[in-house]
Amino acid sequence: MISGIVADIQRASVHDGPGIRTTVFLKGCPLHCAWCHNPECIERAPQLMYYPEKCIGCGSCDKGCFSGARVICGKEMSVEEVLKEVLLDKDYYGTDGGVTFSGGEPFMQSEFLNALIDACKAEGIHCAVETSLIYFDAEIFRKVDLVMADLKIWDDELHKKYTGVSNEKIKTHFCQLSELHIPVIARTPVIPGICQEIDKISEFLKELSNVEKYELLPYHPLGGAKREALGIEPDGFTIPSKEFMEELEKYVFIRE
Ligand code: SF4
Ligand code: SF4
Repeated sequence: MISGIVADIQRASVHDGPGIRTTVFLKGCPLHCAWCHNPECIERAPQLMYYPEKCIGCGSCDKGCFSGARVICGKEMSVEEVLKEVLLDKDYYGTDGGVTFSGGEPFMQSEFLNALIDACKAEGIHCAVETSLIYFDAEIFRKVDLVMADLKIWDDELHKKYTGVSNEKIKTHFCQLSELHIPVIARTPVIPGICQEIDKISEFLKELSNVEKYELLPYHPLGGAKREALGIEPDGFTIPSKEFMEELEKYVFIRE
């Protein structure tokens, strides 16, 4: 039985691809983006998260916390267990919804991911993956209906500085996806102080005929509470201004 470590399963999501989707967050990511909005998904192993504001001081920590102050993020689940949860939403998917495998970096658990996609496809479910594109597994990519991938920073030195890895492989993998004609939605996070050379990213992506859409993701301090619960320092970034986002909008595109 194939199993993996799942951080969370979000039902009825409208932010992780087209239509209404079930998003399965797999734990583990080899990148360390300075602004990571899912910091609980970087470590592959389950982790304790502590939200002091929810603690009622009952002193029963050894029996399990019922107030939600101490939670373990990460649970080993089999393919069948994940599929059972996904199928609860199937009636709501309509023509364009489905399941999105996200993370973390879902390809870090590639055997599990592959088996999950097989199980969902056998049920006729649209499958999308959200990936950093640091890995390239053609067998898996050929099976998915949509890839959502980031080209976070154009300059390689800055990419290394803020994500911990070079972007050379990522750029190559974008080109390899194009050779396989796999539909891609490409994105760039807009982090004030870091985000630059969006024009170069946009030009590069426009050359790839499989990139259906290029969008910008403004920084959102979603990860702040989670960082605190994990005992990680705040990232110190701020939300980009409306004016800054408007300035960059000219680089986004949707392929006709
Ligand atoms: S069990 Fe939860 S609410 Fe009770 S003391 Fe422990 S952390 Fe606080
Ligand atoms: S690739 Fe995604 S999950 Fe991994 S560190 Fe970056 S933002 Fe976080």
